[in-house]
Amino acid sequence: MINLTIRQMSELLLSKQVSVQQLSGLFYDRCQSHNKSIGALITLNDELNAAELLQAQQQVELGDHLLAGIPLLHKDLFCTQGVKTTCGSKMLENFIPPYDATVVKHLKVAGMVTLGKANMDEFAMGSSNEYSAYHVVNNPWDVSRVPGGSSGGSAAAVAARMVPVATGSDTGGSIRQPAAFCGITGVKPSYGRVSRYGMVAFASSLDQGGVLAPGADDCGLVLAAMSGHDVLDSTSAQQPKWQWHKPQNPDMSGLKVGVTRAWIEALQDTDVKERTLQAIEHFEKNGAQLIEVDLPHADLAVSAYYVLAPAECSSNLSRFDGVRFGHQAKDISDLESLYRQSRTEGFGDEVKKRIMIGAWALSSGYYDAYYLKAQKIRRLISEDFNKVFAQVDVIACPVSPELPFKHGEKADGVSMYQADQFTIPASLAGLPCLSMPIGFSQTGLPIGLQLIGRYFDEQTILSTSDKYQQQTDHHLHMPEAFV
Ligand code: GLN
Repeated sequence: MINLTIRQMSELLLSKQVSVQQLSGLFYDRCQSHNKSIGALITLNDELNAAELLQAQQQVELGDHLLAGIPLLHKDLFCTQGVKTTCGSKMLENFIPPYDATVVKHLKVAGMVTLGKANMDEFAMGSSNEYSAYHVVNNPWDVSRVPGGSSGGSAAAVAARMVPVATGSDTGGSIRQPAAFCGITGVKPSYGRVSRYGMVAFASSLDQGGVLAPGADDCGLVLAAMSGHDVLDSTSAQQPKWQWHKPQNPDMSGLKVGVTRAWIEALQDTDVKERTLQAIEHFEKNGAQLIEVDLPHADLAVSAYYVLAPAECSSNLSRFDGVRFGHQAKDISDLESLYRQSRTEGFGDEVKKRIMIGAWALSSGYYDAYYLKAQKIRRLISEDFNKVFAQVDVIACPVSPELPFKHGEKADGVSMYQADQFTIPASLAGLPCLSMPIGFSQTGLPIGLQLIGRYFDEQTILSTSDKYQQQTDHHLHMPEAFV
């Protein structure tokens, strides 16, 4: 049961072979029993909400929505009414939102059942989930290794089938990289496709909600339900609600796949390199045409991102002052000390570092030299993509240059930042992208491939991935300890 697709679970619910209560109960118990070893959740709801289950069961019986009765976790940066939303930070340790994020609302309306909140790097800053203020997350494939980040709790929970699907967010790779490290599929839609209302902000021009699940079809179904224009988010795109069409067969004739040969050739890890080449060969065997492409400014992406994202975060996180929002220091007599002490106590080191870098890059005298220059690089990278997408329908490239690393292995911040070199370019350009499992290293660790699409063309990346998954089963493999 735990390794079924959403469509298969939905069939069982519809044909009354299983009830909403049983299905949610099964996954709830798995969350409870595996959270100790994996640490994927910050909050497991005290119990299953009877009213929510009843409503979902009624929706199943009405044949209302394919997602009705399917349990999930939300990354702990989506506001959930009445349920603690910490964003992985002490700053929001006691924050109980009075409202639901639009994403949460959409998935509730579809009848999905929320089991709790997934662990994450503090304020979504990180690539290993070691920066959560609560506890680290372990990779279910090897608990001495990280699950990736910042949506590491969501990815690890899905990999261990503690839930069939989880939401995540991606600013510079936080859905794709953990999906790759945990052997599942993760999609970040185009910027603007999914409302950011009620999603705690890190870098507003980059943040985008998305989905992590074993397969592309699962991701497509949930993404369709959570997307759509939202008057409450002025950056949400005025597009009709996105629909997912699962392809009927694996034929890829006519599909033009851009291959960033230089990136692949430069890969140091031979397993990552070999699997990547094999997956791309698979596309060709199924009728796709491979075209070599080049993104000449992409090697500047990490440098530009680590100016832009901190700049935006320094502004966004200024609201956590212990007065309007966030942790408040005790026994303080004057206002200035209250601000200082509340922020000193509430934020972790990585967050503080980024606030300082951002404030510095935005300060007069440095703005032109850093912030403006980074914006120009961002534009050049977008233009590179525009040129490439005049020739191809989708770009295939690595997600991460390496296999899931060990806890503590990237203690210096810069090597952690470099881990995002292949994911950040598409983020800067706001393009839809995903990671899908393409096999394992000789040591049994999962490897992902990234697909990047044209703006608003989630369909092509997801259907390319689904076609691949119709003929392969890497996405259905589970870590043995959790079978
Ligand atoms: N790892 C990147 C960072 O630390 C990306 C994070 C994200 O996508 N939220 O900023």
